[in-house]
Amino acid sequence: MVYLDNAATTAVRPEVLKVIHDSLLNDYGNPSSTYRIGKKVRHSMIQARKQLAELLNVAESEVYFTSGATEANNWAIRSQAEKSKELGQGNHIVTTAIEHPSVTNVTKYLETQGFEVTYIQPNERGEITVQQFIDVTTNQTIGWIAMAVNNEVGSILPIFELGEEANERNLWFHVDSVQAVGPMAYDYSQLKCTTFVGSAHKFNGPKGIGFLIYRSFQEHNHLGPLLYGGGQENKMRSGTENVPYILGMVKALELTFAEQEETFNKYEKLHHYLLDALNELDIEFEINGDMNNRVPYINNLWFNGNIASQMLIKMDLDDVYISAGSACSAGSLTESDILKAYYPDQPERWSQSLRISFGYQTTREDIDQFIQSLKKISEGKIDLWHSKKL
Ligand code: PLP
Repeated sequence: MVYLDNAATTAVRPEVLKVIHDSLLNDYGNPSSTYRIGKKVRHSMIQARKQLAELLNVAESEVYFTSGATEANNWAIRSQAEKSKELGQGNHIVTTAIEHPSVTNVTKYLETQGFEVTYIQPNERGEITVQQFIDVTTNQTIGWIAMAVNNEVGSILPIFELGEEANERNLWFHVDSVQAVGPMAYDYSQLKCTTFVGSAHKFNGPKGIGFLIYRSFQEHNHLGPLLYGGGQENKMRSGTENVPYILGMVKALELTFAEQEETFNKYEKLHHYLLDALNELDIEFEINGDMNNRVPYINNLWFNGNIASQMLIKMDLDDVYISAGSACSAGSLTESDILKAYYPDQPERWSQSLRISFGYQTTREDIDQFIQSLKKISEGKIDLWHSKKL
């Protein structure tokens, strides 16, 4: 099997699995219980929060555990938008046209509640710039939202510069950093955002666990309670904490950070290896997204004349797993909204592009097999209707 869809999700590392297994099996006490086995679990959670804060270079009190990044994005954006409106500070939000649905569908909802949202389109070079944000900001603007790395095409957005500018203008700034946390060597203490998020299953941890970091350095920042109940997570998100997964997530991040530089270098080499191999094949392709500001581990390629959904099925039959864009849109194979934002005048590109994304386990052999599969498809050797596997 060749798995090249790590932007969708990653395999849980064995070391992480062991931590989760041990916690589930041995330390099953409720962290809120007052007796020893509960206190032991509580202590391990406190340690995990501390370790996560150290890894991200933020304060322990700024860490909130969530069920993932969708929850964290919803919580942060709604909370801050609704409070700003309530305080009469304005109703305008600036974000980009290339955000993940867990951001876009929140801002679309907010539009039905009296908010106005400006969606910045990538410019002719495929860039989202700080100036674009500044240009559309008015005295009604309350906050900015931007992702760190785009999940479909791998473009890098200027979140550090945006943070500086947002802070100067007294705006809250939310960052969806899901595709950056892990591979990117960012110092989050230098990121002047109000909130940023992460999701464990993108860095070889389990699904269904993530975090929200809420930085309360500005007076007007606001995070309201998400769930009312027993008062866990500093009375902000009640409910018995998922300690096994919290421990697993922090272990996954620790391992990822320990190998960060080495892994990133490997991704750069694999990226060039992939492009060289494609150039040798007699098949036309172009890279999608921002040409200058991009990560090497998410590669989105336009194969002119080839329908992506058909190629995906053929690759599946060949045991090669890639994607046509965002798998997070509930497995749909519809045309990509992100590619529409980048290439509004090239509709053929929206449905003829494939995403190949690397993980820590990816090897050159995986890429060789992907190329072989592509070759077989272009030579008509994988036939959907006559396949034995069907
Ligand atoms: N934001 C981005 C950029 C993502 O890539 C994803 C998942 O694909 C999410 C948010 C949602 O994360 P989760 O699966 O933890 O809800």
